[in-house]
Amino acid sequence: MTSPKVLIIGGGIGGLCLAQGLRRAGVSAAVYERDTAPASRAQGYRISLKDTGAKALHACLPPHLFALAVATSIRPATRMVFMDPQLRPKFAKPIPPIEPGLADLGVNRLTLREILLTGIEETVHFGKTFHRYEELADGRVRAHFADGSSADGTLLVGADGTHSPVRGQLVPDAVIEDLGWAVYGRTPLTDDLLAATPAELIDTFNRVIAADGTAISIATCRTRGPNPRPLTDIPGYLSWTMSAAGPPPGGTSPHELHELATATVADWAPGIRRILAEADVPATFLLTITSALPVAPWQAPAVTLLGDAIHTMSPGRGDGANIALRDARVLAGLLALETSPTTAKAEYERQMLHYGFAAVTASREQPFGPSRSR
Ligand SMILES: Cc1cc2nc3c(=O)[nH]c(=O)nc-3n(C[C@H](O)[C@H](O)[C@H](O)COP(=O)(O)OP(=O)(O)OC[C@H]3O[C@@H](n4cnc5c(N)ncnc54)[C@H](O)[C@@H]3O)c2cc1C
Repeated sequence: MTSPKVLIIGGGIGGLCLAQGLRRAGVSAAVYERDTAPASRAQGYRISLKDTGAKALHACLPPHLFALAVATSIRPATRMVFMDPQLRPKFAKPIPPIEPGLADLGVNRLTLREILLTGIEETVHFGKTFHRYEELADGRVRAHFADGSSADGTLLVGADGTHSPVRGQLVPDAVIEDLGWAVYGRTPLTDDLLAATPAELIDTFNRVIAADGTAISIATCRTRGPNPRPLTDIPGYLSWTMSAAGPPPGGTSPHELHELATATVADWAPGIRRILAEADVPATFLLTITSALPVAPWQAPAVTLLGDAIHTMSPGRGDGANIALRDARVLAGLLALETSPTTAKAEYERQMLHYGFAAVTASREQPFGPSRSR
């Protein structure tokens, strides 16, 4: 068996999309993911893909899988509404209808991961925690894993997320700043809840803002029908995000975070209180909003970074996954075109460091709030 050419560390959105793009281009690759299975972590929230992300997905996936992503996408929002805690609109406008596709695609994270895994299952190794890499004398690179195993390749791509151990070794001085925090939760969308919830909160891109800046956004996440087998079905839910100024909450258990959110809205409109009261409490989590500072180009001919591993950004503008997918598209395209992986990698880094950190800068201006979903 020949060893894979590209070693991808991390089987998240960017790493799997790269593996798909390389498969389409005929470049061999293997993915090493620390999770033990695709659904082993809570993957329970929506990702909004704009044209950047949707076009990258279209370029990297075989046509039938892109069509599956569109068919299983979340229904788009029809209005943008900003309100006060009593749901008095402060600003509202309709969102022109757009067919889900290349310009717009709201997807459930687990569904996207399952689609991205389809057809490349044998090249994705779960339960492999990257430990460190070693640059070999012949120009290749060796990845070492926590279980004592290793793998050799011509290029190693760290697609291992915000706390990337590959970045830790490659650019140890890189700085990731904390910008604040947000509490995320989800509430099953039952028929009763749907009937009782004010129209301003359903199928809208919304933000409910109190005078002290505390804000909640509620995204309606429902597909047009059940997911086809073998994809995991994801019944409709409301995904809510609460942000406030000041230090993060003391308690971080799902129960404590849910209590905090419930107390925050104690005198808000009943429609909001009910959504929080009916939440799936164990699914509540605290997100530290992080943002990378620009890094200088590095000198390592066989090691590069992709996605949050290099340019993690606030989710406020909903760009992180879009840019990770763009990275995958650009790198797969260059590796397919260039005869030398070193040249392809250098051109990828030149482009990616430019547009990636431009997106980080833009996202710092809007660190909190809902990811835009139309
Ligand atoms: C609540 C929330 C909502 C968001 N909404 C949006 C949105 O609407 N639109 C948008 O564009 N972006 C959104 N984002 C951002 C988006 O999720 C990320 O930018 C995107 O997932 C980055 O992809 P990635 O592949 O770089 O990293 P990830 O998807 O985080 O994948 C990294 C992978 O590396 C693995 N890994 C980590 N360490 C190791 C190791 N040592 N060995 C092996 N594997 C390892 C992890 O298990 C993980 O699977 C959101 C983020 C959050 C938290």
